[in-house]
Amino acid sequence: MIAIYFDPKNLKPEHVSFWENYEIHAQKATDKVLADWEQWLQRKEKEPDLEEFSYNFNQDIWKSLKAWLHKEVFHGKCVYCESQLDLDRYLGDVEHFRPKGRVTSAKDQEKRERVSVKVENEIVLDHPGYFWLAYDWRNLMPACSMCNSRAKADQFPVDAECLLMVRLSQEEVNSLLAEPLASKFYPELYYLSPEDLDQRECPLLLNPLNPTPDRDPCEHLRFSIDGSAVAVESSDLGKNSIEVFNLNRNNLVRERKAAIERIHSKYLIAVREPSEKYEERIQNKIEDFVSGVEPYSAAALCYLECFLKRKLRRKR
Ligand SMILES: [Zn+2]
Repeated sequence: MIAIYFDPKNLKPEHVSFWENYEIHAQKATDKVLADWEQWLQRKEKEPDLEEFSYNFNQDIWKSLKAWLHKEVFHGKCVYCESQLDLDRYLGDVEHFRPKGRVTSAKDQEKRERVSVKVENEIVLDHPGYFWLAYDWRNLMPACSMCNSRAKADQFPVDAECLLMVRLSQEEVNSLLAEPLASKFYPELYYLSPEDLDQRECPLLLNPLNPTPDRDPCEHLRFSIDGSAVAVESSDLGKNSIEVFNLNRNNLVRERKAAIERIHSKYLIAVREPSEKYEERIQNKIEDFVSGVEPYSAAALCYLECFLKRKLRRKR
């Protein structure tokens, strides 16, 4: 897993109209799901036995974005395990980092339980999911089916508590990191952005898209020379991510080992080249690993960093 930074404010001019079009559709679909939810909640206050809230996720909005994100942002890789998705005929699953529907706790892998949440008028519900982020690019990323549907699924472990609607004063709204969505029906209730949710919920899962420095995957995950992922000492974020995304699957460990061998041979070629600019040569040879284009870059870079440190220690 390697950090990926993307900000639509910095799009190339030729991508701007595509992006604006996506945002118009995403906004419309989000308005609809929020209206449906708030209508449902008003009914629930009067009808305690009302069946659970559900909505139809509009796959078309994701489909339009998927191929673009896959190519322009995620280097054609699964955001979690860094496997190439090109071979997968569906270009991978749509992964909602925060589940768009039901939310389960991963505290006990054997017994996943629905997460409950308190909403207006003291109603306690099974968390209906982060439906207001169902079409939000900050919550959407391509992932392989092994990491997504077979491993993570609807798990979302947090250190604090999973939130839904949050009551905020105007002063609190002004101090948020990003603009929240205001409830249309319930005054002073808001749906928070992923950035603000991260601050308050403290997810126990790594998200490689635009991480804050303290949540950068490289601060929490290291890799052994045999290709297995290891949590940095005392990192619950690292430990949980390995478990929930099942990051030590046999084939992944094997592929990471091969990536380590690839970067090592690139390093050897660079040091043998007859040029004096030693560091520049290495930098050029491993550019695709540093930019994250290469599959399993995180493991390869982790290996090279340790290798160079050991080498420098030996020289002293
Ligand atoms: Zn994956």
